[in-house]
Parts: sequence; structure tokens; C-alpha cells
Amino acid sequence: SAKADGKNKVRVYDKKLYEEIELRVDGERQLARAIQEDHFIVYYQPRVEAQTGRMVGMEALVRWAHPERGLIAPDHFIPLAESTGMILPLGRLVMEKVFCQIAAWQFQKLAVVPVSVNVSARQFDEGNVSEFIASCLNKYAVDPRFIEIELTESAMMGNFEQVRGEISSISALGIQIHVDDFGTGYSSLSLLYKFNMDVLKVDRAFTSQICNGKGGEIFFSSIVSMAKVLKMRVVAEGVETIEQLRVLQQLGCDEIQGYLVSKPIPSSDVPRLLDQSILLEQLN
Ligand code: C2E
Ligand code: MG
Ligand code: MG
Ligand code: MG
Repeated sequence: SAKADGKNKVRVYDKKLYEEIELRVDGERQLARAIQEDHFIVYYQPRVEAQTGRMVGMEALVRWAHPERGLIAPDHFIPLAESTGMILPLGRLVMEKVFCQIAAWQFQKLAVVPVSVNVSARQFDEGNVSEFIASCLNKYAVDPRFIEIELTESAMMGNFEQVRGEISSISALGIQIHVDDFGTGYSSLSLLYKFNMDVLKVDRAFTSQICNGKGGEIFFSSIVSMAKVLKMRVVAEGVETIEQLRVLQQLGCDEIQGYLVSKPIPSSDVPRLLDQSILLEQLN
């Protein structure tokens, strides 16, 4: 081993790899501390109407501002937060940041659009999400139409009565519910029907298949038809090219999100977008 070879010296040549390992070994402690000290920031990614390019919403995406490692993407810590239960305090932290931000934009008289917040299965199972959201609506005096909730299909597969109760309480507050990463989980038509949600966000994996000449657009088109039956809007995630947008417009996809429009941006860049309102003007 390296230890035996180097007379008790461990040589680490790859700083990135070292940090990766450190986070894996020490991640739980670091994450707990980051939550306690609030080392998180929220980025925002716009969502636009497919036909007009008009901005109709933004998604809140959390980043860990690590003192040594810089910004860490959610895929590197959300799974740990979920498995340890730290997603409960972290989820509340993110939710509260978003509310606070919307209130600040409103105070600045900006034309705010609805912001969707990702909520994990575990928060739905044991987190009293609807109660917490209700308290935030009160505390920040934010209109419920400016907050939306994204949950994945797997979140819907938890304790049925608990999840259905949470979803209907959230809807009753006047908050729209989006099904995130649609197509990657196992939700059934009947589940979607019973839960009565507002938006289907089709996973990037399917968006990336619509221009490859292998029939991916037929698959997408059948999702659009199904959504119409369920009276849900369809959002394509991960739209990266004009060609994809053109196909999505023809398929009747309602809204799009992706690098073609904008990457997720820090909150300080949002006012500029809100002033623009039409983000894909050059297409029309
Ligand atoms: P998601 O909710 O499906 O969010 C979309 C992800 O796709 C974001 O990654 C976004 O940056 C990325 N994306 C958007 N457009 C494109 C595109 O055109 N091309 C490509 N290649 N990627 C695109 P991000 O920000 O790294 O977040 C990853 C996941 O982490 C999210 O997936 C969500 O599941 C989770 N997440 C983020 N913030 C939160 C949070 O506050 N709470 C919880 N529970 N989960 C969160
Ligand atoms: Mg999402
Ligand atoms: Mg998604
Ligand atoms: Mg995802």
C-alpha cells in the first residue's frame, strides 16, 4: 500500500479526488455543520412558454457554498441529506430562502414569476411540508401563486394516504404541484389521476431523444397526449438546442427549461431576466 511504501506517508496526488474522498468519509459531519451555519445558496433557472419564449417560472436549485471546495452541486450532497434525514432541515432552509427572496423581489417592485421548489420523498413522508409552507406564506406575505412544488414520481410512491394528504393540503393553499423527472420512475396513470397535479416535467433523458431519428418524438408526443387527458401542462426539461425546441413546439409541449434558454443563475442575475420577460425573442 501507499502507506507501507512511503514510510507512513500517504501521498495524495489528485486534489479533486482527495476532496471527493474526504466528503465521502466526513460528509455527514460537514453537511450537518453546513446546515447549522447555513452554507447554502439558491440558483434559479427560468422556464419559458414554448410558443412565445415568455418566462413563466423559475426553478430553485440549491448549491452548497463549501468554504474550501467552492460551489458543490446538489447531486453530490442531496442523496446524503436524504439518507441521513438532514434533508428535513435542509429542505426547510431552502424553502425559507426562496420565500425570503420572492418577498425581496416583490419589495423591489419586480414582476415576479412563480418559483418551483424541489421537495424530496422523505420530506413528504415525515416533514409536514404543507404546514411549513403555510407558515412561510404567512410569515413572508407571499402570494401562493408564486410558489410551486416539484416532487418526483418516487415521492408519490411513499405512504399513499400521507402523500395524498400532503398534496391535497398544498393544492388547497393555492400552490401548483409539478411531477419532476417524469418518465424515470414508476408512477402509473391512475396514480397521476388520483393525485390531481398540475404539471408534468418530462425528464431530460427523453428530451435528448426527440431529434435522434429513432422515434423519441413519438414517445414524447404520447406523454403530451396523456397530459392533455389529465389536464396537466407539459414541461420539457434539459432543452439544449433550437432543433429540440422546434420539435417540442410541433408536439404541443407547453413549456421548456434548459441551457438553450439559460443555465441556473445566482439570484443577483434574476432581476435582469425579470425585466426582459421574453427570453427567447429571437425565435419568433
Ligand atoms: P431537477 O429538479 O431535475 O433539476 C434540473 C437539473 O437539470 C438541474 O441540475 C439543472 O441545472 C439541470 N439542467 C437544466 N437544464 C439543463 C440542460 O439543458 N442540460 C443539462 N445537461 N442539464 C440541465 P442541478 O441544479 O445540479 O440539480 C440536480 C438535482 O438536484 C435536481 O434535479 C433535484 O432533483 C436536486 N435538487 C436541487 N435542488 C434541490 C432542493 O432544494 N431540494 C431537493 N430535495 N432536491 C434538489
Ligand atoms: Mg426539479
Ligand atoms: Mg427534473
Ligand atoms: Mg433530477
